[in-house]
Amino acid sequence: MATITTAEILCVGTELLLGDIVNTNAAFLSKRLAELGICVYRHTSVGDNPQRLKAALASALAEADLVITSGGLGPTYDDLTKETVAEFFGRPMSMHEPSLEKIRNYFAATGRAITKNNEKQAMMPEGATVLENNYGTAPALAIYDEKSNKTVIMLPGPPGELTKVFNEQVVPYLKNSSDSVIVSKNIYIFGIGESAVEEKIKDIMTSSANPSVAPYCKEGEVRLRVTAKAKDEYTAAQMCDSTIQRIYDSEVGEYIYGTDADSLESTLVKALSEKGLTICCAESLTGGLIGERITTISGSSQVFKGGFITYTNEAKEALVGVSHSTLEAYSAVSSQTAMEMARGARIALGTDIAISATGIAGPSGGTPEAPVGTVFIGLSTKNGESYKRLSLSSSRSREYIRIVSASNAIHMALKVTKGLTDN
Ligand code: ATP
Ligand code: MG
Repeated sequence: MATITTAEILCVGTELLLGDIVNTNAAFLSKRLAELGICVYRHTSVGDNPQRLKAALASALAEADLVITSGGLGPTYDDLTKETVAEFFGRPMSMHEPSLEKIRNYFAATGRAITKNNEKQAMMPEGATVLENNYGTAPALAIYDEKSNKTVIMLPGPPGELTKVFNEQVVPYLKNSSDSVIVSKNIYIFGIGESAVEEKIKDIMTSSANPSVAPYCKEGEVRLRVTAKAKDEYTAAQMCDSTIQRIYDSEVGEYIYGTDADSLESTLVKALSEKGLTICCAESLTGGLIGERITTISGSSQVFKGGFITYTNEAKEALVGVSHSTLEAYSAVSSQTAMEMARGARIALGTDIAISATGIAGPSGGTPEAPVGTVFIGLSTKNGESYKRLSLSSSRSREYIRIVSASNAIHMALKVTKGLTDN
């Protein structure tokens, strides 16, 4: 039985090297393998050239237990992956009748005659496991080499085929070829950076390889993936849970907003629904992003009443009743304006909670008092008002500043919904 803990992704196609296409297959495979607890050591791309493919394969198999190839399974002369891997392992090719039948049917269904080179797609190396492809003519396949205890899985290049064949065929294949079960759980963290998280829980992160704790961050959020390997699912899940509990008990605990939560907005919609509360927003620099993110979540219509995009001072006065004197005295980018925006929105729509965001997304428009990245998040509830000032780095992109501002607004609403703050 194969032992698979490490992998290399080997993408075949000259078009990748010419920059004609972006390697989305490698990104997809890496993400899915990480979820399965398989550590990806390296991504390699080679052209449609048998010598270089063979060299890349030898190098990959010297390092990793599993090599997954993408591309080069098609019918044309430059599709050489299967032939090259077969030659590498010294396995002769022969016709795989069920695959040939399938290709014939595929052509018949589309009213076309099968060509000789399409028949080539049904040729299989000795001992290969055929992984059915119901989305194209090229079957995928796996070869397990007992002598070296290495596995090569070959997948078709078109992303629409590769992703589906991976989910439907490769995942069960990998699970069947292993005598252990892998369970992964995610911890969602907001309000603290990746390096600070690492510093606070270094001992938990480095003390064990099973469960392993891997961080990854995205626009101001940190996620930790806890992965455990055990003889059965129950044991692996318990191992994950006990590590998760240790992280909850650490200094990082207060920043955790959920486990397997999906996103800030889905957690907010769930929390509002559970408490029977409603929300609305008034947005300046985020220009609708907060409302967009909340309404992406199914079920948001029960809790989200609407939003105002109050981009200019006129709009802030006309739509959510920010007073002219506040704008004159403190400017649009101020805690006072943020709180008045939230208050005005809440009164206009009669919700329990309102959030607002006003600030400078840049790259232009900064002032000495309010440089690019200065953002005020306002919150209004029946219990009162509050605000949060963000001082994001002015070197951040406009897109980043807008996303992180929206995330902070949603997070502030989540905290008040959960009753962690008074207003
Ligand atoms: P086909 O039967 O279509 O020839 P194939 O398995 O031989 O399939 P390729 O010819 O290598 O695959 O690639 C087919 C198409 O799939 C490419 O033109 C490209 O659009 C896409 N593709 C290939 N590799 C990748 C990749 N690594 N990431 C994203 N897209 C890819
Ligand atoms: Mg091809």
